[in-house]
Amino acid sequence: MPIVQVEHVSKQFRLGEQMVLALDDVSLAIEPGVFLAIAGPSGSGKSTLLNIIGCIDTPSSGQVVIDGHDVSNRTPDQLADLRARTIGFIFQTFNLLPVLSAEENVEYPLLQMPELSKKDRDERVRHYLGVVGLTQYAKHRPNQLSGGQRQRVAIARALATHSKIVLADEPTANLDSKTGTSILKLMRDINRESGTTFVFSTHDRKVMNMADRLVRIADGRITALGMKSEDRWVFVQGRAPREDEAREI
Ligand code: ADP
Ligand code: MG
Repeated sequence: MPIVQVEHVSKQFRLGEQMVLALDDVSLAIEPGVFLAIAGPSGSGKSTLLNIIGCIDTPSSGQVVIDGHDVSNRTPDQLADLRARTIGFIFQTFNLLPVLSAEENVEYPLLQMPELSKKDRDERVRHYLGVVGLTQYAKHRPNQLSGGQRQRVAIARALATHSKIVLADEPTANLDSKTGTSILKLMRDINRESGTTFVFSTHDRKVMNMADRLVRIADGRITALGMKSEDRWVFVQGRAPREDEAREI
């Protein structure tokens, strides 16, 4: 069963007098354990789609089912609990709390889980800082860390709650290309080892090529779904890949 099902979702925003159709009848099923890229140009609806999957925003119409729960008609409180226990977020701007150290940032969402003792929290923090290679930097604050290290803290924070789905909105957009590639490789290794589902957005072709599933989006509509097979993309819906895209991988 898919871990995320998006059925005929549309999202309109009001911008002054105008209505903007950010998503236009989007349907998508995400299987558990995939490493999926949502790829499209700026303004195509990537963030809107991720925010709706992550229960940060609600659709104007359509249905969203996350891990078997229909979230379409949930109250904000019910959504907060589902979000905290099922979904981890990674943002382009890292979104760490500046006054907290790396380890305190990773611990922060765990404070919302009363079933975890201080000892449980400490163990998780130590474990996930180790997973992202930041054991030595536990006491550092965000402004004492590089961009890549900050994003590693954000990855540890997203994993520490044992999220089933990690959503990453352009996680490499503020990193140089080498650091961005190492962050994507880290996410992919974690995906392979733990089976955590990763969904990330990007407008960068090199980044999208690291995924094993691809959703192309343009003007709020899905234009193609791709699957990687023997290092080449096979498009299962929408247009066939152009020659240069097929060669590039
Ligand atoms: P992307 O992440 O692919 O750059 P977005 O999902 O942010 O695209 O935006 C899709 C469209 O919706 C754009 O036209 C954008 O201007 C519009 N949009 C997004 N959020 C809002 C908002 N809160 N209010 C008005 N328009 C918005
Ligand atoms: Mg965006």
